[in-house]
Amino acid sequence: MNIRKITNLSEALMIIGALLAFLLYAIPEVNIYFGIIILFSAAAIVAGMYLKFKYYRCPHCHSLLPLRTSSFPVYCPECGEKIE
Ligand SMILES: [Zn+2]
Repeated sequence: MNIRKITNLSEALMIIGALLAFLLYAIPEVNIYFGIIILFSAAAIVAGMYLKFKYYRCPHCHSLLPLRTSSFPVYCPECGEKIE
């Protein structure tokens, strides 16, 4: 898998996790469904963050790419190599 696919997948997981968390507002009381939704929401967010921190790296020097950018970086800020 390349970095763009990893980025899309990790962001999709985090968005799903956030949407699941919003679903909690629809549940009037704390019950077993509430707990299950919290578990899935947290698992999706943690999985997305894990993927991003593990694989969102420069293929040349393996340093973490900048997370706070709106666009995908073309060159690595650490080593200057082009990112595919
Ligand atoms: Zn690099």
